[in-house]
Amino acid sequence: MEARLPSHSLALPHSSHHHRFGGCPSSPSSSSGVLPKMATFTFTVPATTFTPLSSSSSSSSSVSVPFLRPHSSNLPTPRRRRFPSSPNPLNPVFLLHRTNGKRHSTTTTTTTLAVAIDSTDDVSVDQNLNEGKDYKIVLPTNESSERLLRIRHTCAHVMAMAVQKLYPDAKVTIGPWIENGFYYDFDIEPLTDKDLKRIKKEMDRIIGKNLPLVREEVSRDEALRRIMALNEPYKIEILESIKDDIITIYHIGEQWWDLCAGPHVESTGNINKKAVELESVAGAYWRGDERKPMLQRIYGTAWENEEQLKAYLHFKEEAKRRDHRRLGQDLDLFSIQDDAGGGLVFWHPKGAIVRHIIEDLWKKIHMDRGYDLLYTPHVAKADLWKISGHLDFYKENMYDQMSIEDELYQLRPMNCPYHILLYKRKRHSYRDFPIRVAELGTVYRYELSGSLHGLFRVRGFTQDDAHIFCLDDQIKDEIRGVLDLTEEILLQFGFDKYEVNLSTRPEKAVGDDDIWEKATSALKDALNDKGWTYQIDDGGGAFYGPKIDLKIEDALGRKWQCSTIQVDFNLPQRFDITYVDSNSEKRRPILIHRAVLGSLERFFGVLIEHYAGDFPLWLSPIQARILPVTDTQLEYCNDVTNKLKMNGIRAEVCHGERLPKLIRNAEKQKIPLMAVVGAKEVETETVTVRSRFGGELGTMSVDDFITRIKLATQNPTSL
Ligand SMILES: [Zn+2]
Ligand SMILES: [Zn+2]
Repeated sequence: MEARLPSHSLALPHSSHHHRFGGCPSSPSSSSGVLPKMATFTFTVPATTFTPLSSSSSSSSSVSVPFLRPHSSNLPTPRRRRFPSSPNPLNPVFLLHRTNGKRHSTTTTTTTLAVAIDSTDDVSVDQNLNEGKDYKIVLPTNESSERLLRIRHTCAHVMAMAVQKLYPDAKVTIGPWIENGFYYDFDIEPLTDKDLKRIKKEMDRIIGKNLPLVREEVSRDEALRRIMALNEPYKIEILESIKDDIITIYHIGEQWWDLCAGPHVESTGNINKKAVELESVAGAYWRGDERKPMLQRIYGTAWENEEQLKAYLHFKEEAKRRDHRRLGQDLDLFSIQDDAGGGLVFWHPKGAIVRHIIEDLWKKIHMDRGYDLLYTPHVAKADLWKISGHLDFYKENMYDQMSIEDELYQLRPMNCPYHILLYKRKRHSYRDFPIRVAELGTVYRYELSGSLHGLFRVRGFTQDDAHIFCLDDQIKDEIRGVLDLTEEILLQFGFDKYEVNLSTRPEKAVGDDDIWEKATSALKDALNDKGWTYQIDDGGGAFYGPKIDLKIEDALGRKWQCSTIQVDFNLPQRFDITYVDSNSEKRRPILIHRAVLGSLERFFGVLIEHYAGDFPLWLSPIQARILPVTDTQLEYCNDVTNKLKMNGIRAEVCHGERLPKLIRNAEKQKIPLMAVVGAKEVETETVTVRSRFGGELGTMSVDDFITRIKLATQNPTSL
């Protein structure tokens, strides 16, 4: 069988270049379009056999926006957010709640924010959540469960056997196990979803017969003879690519066999047919080569039991519902314009306001913590990139040079050289340190058009970049400061579960052992000081210095690499930056690159998926929509809207439809608050307020409304 698909990691696609070369942290930014590894996911779905959670996790409660006091109404009941607690930060679980015999699932992955109940889900959540019991299911992975891996391996063969039974002319090729299941490529006429159903039925039959899987070792000649007898041309190619002398084949029962190195389950009966589903079929070129025949690739998912399959399908559906590309369009947040080019992001007004809020918060926190803010250009002379080493080591990610008055210029892929140039603008003494400079710096990096993915993998993006210049013995305190700042920012968005990695010196590295040793223990000390648990990736550091990477966990339990902190012994040398120490001797400062959000584009994508488009009140592009019952109230509505705006509240009027339609539209747009205005409200100078998650709030004066919104947004993390 061919090599497994790469297991997706959130590491930068260009992390390798990154390592080869000293650069700014963050390229996680554009990069990790890929969903996080399943290993980190856990889910629940309605099912009956889950293990009850420990009591600590059964304390989920329904929470509404603070000033919201729902009371009865004949308007449809809005859904509310629930904020369950999670017993184990690094082992998120989906909880299953049972309420009045109905089941609801939600996540426990953040305590400040929970999954908004799907607006298409008609099950309303009542106040009795605490009476429900919580259940959890943790999905195994190929890495964590050898049995699961065997099941998936076997499923690929069972599917191939089924296909050849139903389509005797089909030629088999390869069929590896993959992250959530398996696939197999067939040379066969195009298949439809209906065909998949037939194939699954046949698979069920094979599973039901409990046929043994028997391993047989044969010589290469014998294998070739048997393949020729079956007329399987692709298998000949596969055989040629096997380097071992002994060829193993696996029989399923007596009538079918496949070339394979194993491992498999003992007999097909060990597969639970209710835990297997065929997901899709797509064209795929043999060996991924477009000059070669187009094959049909059938994807299947397979698990140890039915509950796991359900949990996985539930997760998949939830991930689809949260897809930032879809929500970005539905909520009019951003787009990629064909006329402008792939991977170049247009922030629409509603997306731009969210970015503005994030940037403001980011700038304020940085200034509070002693950073100076910078703005630097987007292009520079090619020579600068030669000094920095980018032209030698990062060229494939850079756009072509442009000639300006006979000199070559280049778009920047990183901000670091600019910050270093600014450092060099004057002489520094040891008393100047630490120097912290930060910039929301837009960079451009080449990505294959086929790899572009919404906001997750783009060609132009803005890093929330910063560089710290410091003395050797300041490293620990500076790192600790970055950890605090990182936490402060991430908590604002409800991210309170992190996976932290410390990567140490690789074999090939610049810098003395001494300074590596010193810097690495400074990073460890800072992490210990902070009280964060972390894993050590021995030898996984960049060649230019040790680093800390931090992944945040979203509401679905997926992990996203955002923050990174990297010590750099390379660029200070390349740019020959110095300071004068207390003995009036010239020395080299330490350079630390760091990013908290990674890139604004990517972080926005993560946020959209994390909140499922239901931004909390403080972050919501439109906080309140004012809805007139008839256009007679329009003028008053405009007055109210203006008053809200004067108070810094993002409000808008919507009219021209009947009220129920206006309300439905506001729900669809996930607007947190609606203020309904009829004749009575105009007369009494009030509004009747309803909240998306808090229900009916009743009629109140406009001033009251304003006060309550202000109160509710004062402490963002409480929302
Ligand atoms: Zn940098
Ligand atoms: Zn196999």
